[in-house]
Amino acid sequence: MRKYLLPQNGNFYKANLHCHSDYSDGKLSPQDLKQLYMKNGYSVIAFTDHDILLEHPELNDENFLALNGYELEVSESGKKWPDSKTCHLCFIALSPDNITQVCWHRSKYLFSNSVKHREKVRFDESLPDYERKYTPACINDMIRLGRKNGFFVTYNHPSWSLEDYREYSNYRGMNAIEIVNFSCCVGGYDDHNGRVYDDMLRGGKKIFCIAADDNHNNHESNTPKSDSCGAYIMIKAERLEYSAITGALESGDFYSSQGPEITALWAKKDVIHIECSTVREITLLTGNRSCQLKTAGAKGIKEADFKLNGDEIYFRIEAVRHDGKKAYTNAYFLDDLRR
Ligand SMILES: [Zn+2]
Ligand SMILES: [Zn+2]
Repeated sequence: MRKYLLPQNGNFYKANLHCHSDYSDGKLSPQDLKQLYMKNGYSVIAFTDHDILLEHPELNDENFLALNGYELEVSESGKKWPDSKTCHLCFIALSPDNITQVCWHRSKYLFSNSVKHREKVRFDESLPDYERKYTPACINDMIRLGRKNGFFVTYNHPSWSLEDYREYSNYRGMNAIEIVNFSCCVGGYDDHNGRVYDDMLRGGKKIFCIAADDNHNNHESNTPKSDSCGAYIMIKAERLEYSAITGALESGDFYSSQGPEITALWAKKDVIHIECSTVREITLLTGNRSCQLKTAGAKGIKEADFKLNGDEIYFRIEAVRHDGKKAYTNAYFLDDLRR
């Protein structure tokens, strides 16, 4: 019997889960962003302005869904900005009713246009101001509070943040890591984070990966340095409705991409089957030395079967197009598959 790793039924919805508008330091309004992304085939944007959780229900219609979210950051103090490490997390509300900001401080952390919207923020007035510290304990506490209060939590752009194994190996409890942050890549940082994802998976963290834009739109949308519409996830869900989409996020019913499509992914006994648009090669990464690669060179391939040895820790698949652009599945742990 097939075990579908991407659901057999439902539709794919193209989504950008990390987006800045002119409510913080982005250039475009939420309405302009909706227009730009819909023109490029998107159905979902999570608005994740810096430290400000606002809802955009006026954008929703039968072909578009705005998810509510915000991006939190905590940085090393006492160093010059170019050298200071920082940790950024996106919190995306799992329910449209969840617009109470957590880790809130009444007078700190807002910058750029976010400051103008301070009065709109809803928070639990019975709680003291939340002081952030750049320590694993505080970062893990923020992740814990995000999850506990109904948010999907992503760990963002480790390369731009100057974080390496010494930091991220201590972080736990997030739902996903950014395997691609397009805006950072456009800025000259190698925020293709396959190695970071593998490090975390090998460390026992059962987390998903997302590709996202983190767009600020400082460059026009159709120019070479535009940071929009370059990295996304394809969510498979029954319908375009808030809880159906966030439910699919929580279940990992999505893959990440910068171009190639993945149309099917299933396991049958010890064989993993993937179907995709034409690519140069398809790689199975396993967390150990059981990786495999299938290719037909320039001719290209549209599917592959990988027979597992049984000694893999997990597997995840990358499909690489002839122009180098990749699609990435989430990781699947063998002990979960056998259940
Ligand atoms: Zn960030
Ligand atoms: Zn951001």
